[in-house]
Formats: sequence, C-alpha cells, structure tokens
Amino acid sequence: MKEKLFIFSAPSGAGKSTIVQNLMNQNLGLEFSISATSREPREGEKDGREYHFITPEKFRRMIKEDAFIEWEEVYPDQFYGTLYSEVELIWKRGKHAIFDIDVVGGLNLKKKYGEQACAIFIQAPSQEVLEQRLRSRGPDDETSLQKRLGKAMFEMSHKSRFDHIVVNDSLEQALAEAEKIVLDFLNL
Ligand code: ADP
Ligand code: 5GP
Repeated sequence: MKEKLFIFSAPSGAGKSTIVQNLMNQNLGLEFSISATSREPREGEKDGREYHFITPEKFRRMIKEDAFIEWEEVYPDQFYGTLYSEVELIWKRGKHAIFDIDVVGGLNLKKKYGEQACAIFIQAPSQEVLEQRLRSRGPDDETSLQKRLGKAMFEMSHKSRFDHIVVNDSLEQALAEAEKIVLDFLNL
C-alpha cells in the first residue's frame, strides 16, 4: 500500500475541521496529522489532540532543527506547522494522513508530495455565511475575527490550485462529496 495524504484546506470557519473529524470516523484508514502551534488552546481543546501546543520559543527552535515539513507564522507570533515525525508515525501505523491546514500550507504539502497527495478546498457558500459560522463558533475576539476574514479573501483566490473544491452549504452533502473523493483516490 502506498501511503497517501489528504489535504483539507479552507478559510477558517468554512467547516474543514467538521468535515475532517467526520471522515476520521468513517473507517477509511485515515489518521489526523496533529500540527504544532504556538497559539493558545481554545476552550475544550486538548494538547496532543487538536494540536501540539508549544511556545513560540520552542517553535522557533524546532524550525532551526528542521522538524517541520512546512510551517507558517499565520498571525504574528502564532506559528503553525506540520511535523515530519507526525506523518512518519502515521504511515508506520499503515494509515493515510489527513490534514486540516490553511491554504498556503496545504499547497506547500501538495507541491512536496505531488501525486501522493489529494488536495481538497472547502468553501463556505458565501462570505456572510463564513462570518456567521466564525461568530457562532467563538470565542475569538473581534480583532482576531477580522484577521481571519481578511485572510479568507486571499485564500479564496487560490482555490483553483486544488484538486477538488467542495462547497459546504448542506453539511450532509459536503460530507458525502468529501467521502467520495477520498474513496476514489484510494481506489476503493
Ligand atoms: P474550520 O475548521 O474550517 O475553521 P469549523 O469546522 O470549525 O471550520 O466550522 C466552523 C463553524 O461552522 C462550526 O461552529 C461548525 O459547527 C459550523 N459548521 C460547519 N459546517 C456547517 C454547515 N454545513 N452548516 C452550518 N454550520 C456548519
Ligand atoms: P485555528 O487557529 O483556527 O485552529 O487555525 C488557524 C489556521 O491555521 C487554520 O486555517 C488552520 O487550518 C491552519 N493550520 C493548522 N495547522 C496548520 C499547519 O500545520 N500548517 C499550516 N501552514 N497551517 C495550519
């Protein structure tokens, strides 16, 4: 079995975590690649589950040690990155890696892994719906919300570089579409 990567990217709030979490429960042999970040955990988030939460200093040190396949300073002093060690362990366990990652990170992974990777862009039905979803998810403050919305415009302009685009209007439909893309890529 050749190990695969499933890259789900989208502007924050479009619903990629919801879709990725659902796919993980479908017994498709997928394992979530837990990124490292230096942002603070949100309520309900647990170290080693959603992210490996580390300090900006430790993050910088690990960049120097070449621990990351890709990394970004998404917002000032808020680093996010994919660890080589994480993906290697997933493959060693005979699983395919699934990523919930921003657009630039997703495209960097696709560039690196080419045909081994399936890159999927998740799109909210409109900018208004995206904002509503971000607000309902909370508890980001207004400044952080505006930063995320600003970044969304930039991210939308890159959607055509992905292998697939899934519009997340009806969640049920988006989940079915995403599952079909995964099954097709695995030739199942
Ligand atoms: P992302 O991971 O892209 O930032 P999330 O998966 O956290 O987005 O979704 C943002 C919010 O929108 C969450 O509160 C989630 O429950 C909600 N949501 C996701 N998909 C839908 C949908 N199709 N319809 C309505 N709400 C949704
Ligand atoms: P959040 O703070 O909402 O969890 O994530 C902020 C953004 O960082 C999201 O778009 C998320 O997908 C992205 N992100 C998460 N992990 C990684 C990663 O490993 N690398 C990169 N480049 N972005 C990531």
